[in-house]
Amino acid sequence: MKYIKYKNYSNTYVFDTKKKWKTIWIFWWIHWNEIAWVNIIKKLIKKIESWKLKLLSWKLILVLCNEWAILVWQREIKYNLNRLFKEKYLNNDSKEYEIKRVKKLSEIIKEVDILFDIHSVSSKSVPFMFAENVWNEIKIASNIYNWKIVIWWGKIAWDIISWDTDSYAHNLWKTAFTIECWNHNYSKASEVGFNSSINLLKEFWLIKKWNIKNKNKLELIEMYKIKTTKTWNFKFVKWIYNFKEIKTWELIWYSSKEKLYAKEDFIILLPNYWKLKKWLEIFYFWRKLKI
Ligand SMILES: [Zn+2]
Repeated sequence: MKYIKYKNYSNTYVFDTKKKWKTIWIFWWIHWNEIAWVNIIKKLIKKIESWKLKLLSWKLILVLCNEWAILVWQREIKYNLNRLFKEKYLNNDSKEYEIKRVKKLSEIIKEVDILFDIHSVSSKSVPFMFAENVWNEIKIASNIYNWKIVIWWGKIAWDIISWDTDSYAHNLWKTAFTIECWNHNYSKASEVGFNSSINLLKEFWLIKKWNIKNKNKLELIEMYKIKTTKTWNFKFVKWIYNFKEIKTWELIWYSSKEKLYAKEDFIILLPNYWKLKKWLEIFYFWRKLKI
């Protein structure tokens, strides 16, 4: 079976089998410092180009998202690209790079059937993937990946921060997953991302056989609350990392005006230590669901 490969915009790889029913887009490098993609995408392209991975049908498109951040070695030029998918920016004539780029990416998402957005984290963590509790998404997510699957990102973070690829795609009734592969300094991060990408291709019949053994135990986690701040000067009481379990009445953080005690047992996710901004997220509350 033949497919053609071309680059239609910079840093975009298109593998087209011409037996198109649907299109899978994989986004990578939306945040410059998240480098787990390097081995994932390079390996994926190499396998496809060397015919070790034979695409049977459909169209696979790989898109490098923030091209300019790479030139300056920064997470972003000026704006977090993954917080710009909202009308305010999409209908904006600004010449600033990320605002121009988000328009292009939003156009791409409109053409998407299945979107897979690859990220990795800087802090202590385990891999996790976002899937919404719509259509068959959780089922598909658990077929392609078996670490932690986090649901209701779009619902909980809706009016605060969810102007990302995932929420934008879901608002357009698309199937979309975002994966946080692990800490990028950890060599297994790219393995998690690569295996999940391969499984995704298998799930949607782009490829036939590919045996990936993964013994991990799947966990389903529901997001149910978000904590934002109204002050600048607060501190976490101790080092709190992704998926740390917090017990009722534990002191989490304090400022000159406020002390925050846990009112219930919960799991903390994405504690924001470094770039604290008024009204932005500090962390999210999660609980495990029975599968
Ligand atoms: Zn990211």
